[in-house]
Amino acid sequence: MDATLDLHPADAFIARDHKLFIDGAWVDPREASDPIPVLNPATGAVIGHVPDGGARDVAAAVAAARRAFETGPWPAMSPSAREKLLLDLADLCEAEGETISHMEVRDNGMAMMPAGMLAPVMAAKTFRYYAGWVTKIAGSVLPVDQPPFSQSKAFAYVRKEPVGVCAAITPWNYPFMMAVMKLAPALATGCTVVLKPAELAPFSALFLAELCQRAGVPPGVVNVVTGYGETAGAALSAHPDVDKIAFTGSTEVGKIIVRAAAGNLKKVSLELGGKNPFIVMKDADLPLAVATAAKAAFFLQGQNCQCGSRMYVHASLFDRFVADLSTAAQAMKIGDGFAPGVQIGPMISADQRARVEGYIAAGEAAGAERVSGGRALARPGFFLEPTVFARTTHAMSIVREEIFGPVASVMPFDTDDLDAIAALANDTTYGLIASVWTKDLSNAIGLSHRIKAGNVAVNNHGMTDITVPFGGYRQSGWGREFGPESLEPYLQAKTVTLVT
Ligand code: NAP
Ligand code: MG
Repeated sequence: MDATLDLHPADAFIARDHKLFIDGAWVDPREASDPIPVLNPATGAVIGHVPDGGARDVAAAVAAARRAFETGPWPAMSPSAREKLLLDLADLCEAEGETISHMEVRDNGMAMMPAGMLAPVMAAKTFRYYAGWVTKIAGSVLPVDQPPFSQSKAFAYVRKEPVGVCAAITPWNYPFMMAVMKLAPALATGCTVVLKPAELAPFSALFLAELCQRAGVPPGVVNVVTGYGETAGAALSAHPDVDKIAFTGSTEVGKIIVRAAAGNLKKVSLELGGKNPFIVMKDADLPLAVATAAKAAFFLQGQNCQCGSRMYVHASLFDRFVADLSTAAQAMKIGDGFAPGVQIGPMISADQRARVEGYIAAGEAAGAERVSGGRALARPGFFLEPTVFARTTHAMSIVREEIFGPVASVMPFDTDDLDAIAALANDTTYGLIASVWTKDLSNAIGLSHRIKAGNVAVNNHGMTDITVPFGGYRQSGWGREFGPESLEPYLQAKTVTLVT
């Protein structure tokens, strides 16, 4: 009897003997290697294995993606047929929503409500958004004025052509959506893809490959190679036949990818880290700001590029803000993401928790006041209390570096000078997002325009939507995902000049 019959479909999928998805088929790695064990971070137990793909597998996947890009059904497919394919993928995400949510919670540790539940909803929305674009990717017709050809005899048109074979390298913090955010614009523009998910939470990317197969995506158009960053990821970013790389992850690895991409000057787009300011002006709606601050700092255990980890609060509100945020943090329910009411799941791994504990210790050693939290839970799994620090300074590593954990630093300011407040926000190498809490329109717009970040939120934090561009200034990245801008990195312009 098949022991997996009694399992939840997500657990049955996780328990499978996984293979790489190359050229429309599930294949073993080309070189013998031990499969990579994958843990449930809520228990620390191994829940499954994925293949340790290497350079030869990456080469096979890139070759398949190249063939699919140049010949066969994919380049011949009409825009409306491609649109239908993306709509079918959206429907499949919804139909398999329960499996996808469950898989994300099991593999990543995120709480089912709302993160796990939202994953398939956002994925379906993303596929539909890009489905809408497929039939609207248009070039332009331009006049040319180049003697001896008169304007009436000469003109140029610009075609938007797909850039080609795209590599996608994704992180573990919101795994299914990270993969969808790369796949959907690539497919919408007619590119082909080799995806390497993070080895810490790889299952939903393999499930996405299965959904592509079920939707009828032609062989080679989407390939998934699981493996380690230093091997599979490095081979993919250096591969001479990859035209473009879309990376989401740390700024440190982003720089490695840029160097690797230099060999063939592949196009690079980067969604990197953040150290995002959360600015509470003296006229802010304090209860709303505090409630949102707790989510901003602790959603996904702070393992979130939008984490609001530097909080600047007007001195007149500071003590109440710190006290209320600490109360809110202590009231958050920590536990297995499947348990009802849980808001804080485990950290992704023992290493990640130890790294964050290192930051907490460094903060205390540097004189920061730990107001609440900061301890690991004495139970299996990689749980860590949400942590609030006060009396932090910009000299401290907890304020300067992206912790990628549930740690907020709250600092007072006592000025109305927008330049001075913006200077605090901008005292970072990052520039992903920021939020401003005020009822004053001049303050809201004045600060929004002064802050060096790709996304500034007024009276909300991190309200992203598929319709609006998202991405970083400075060392938070290159390019934008979502919104019309997100198509550009997957396209290139070809100008055709004609004389009649
Ligand atoms: P990471 O360590 O940079 O890894 C990201 C991906 O890169 C993983 O698939 C990883 O593989 C791979 N990788 C590692 N070394 C590589 C190399 N030498 N060459 C090629 N690929 C390599 O980041 P993470 O810890 O997974 O994710 C956390 C980071 O992502 C944070 O900094 C966060 O801010 C950022 N992030 C940004 C956004 C955004 O939209 N801006 C969104 C989410 C997360 P393995 O892990 O399998 O080794
Ligand atoms: Mg896992």
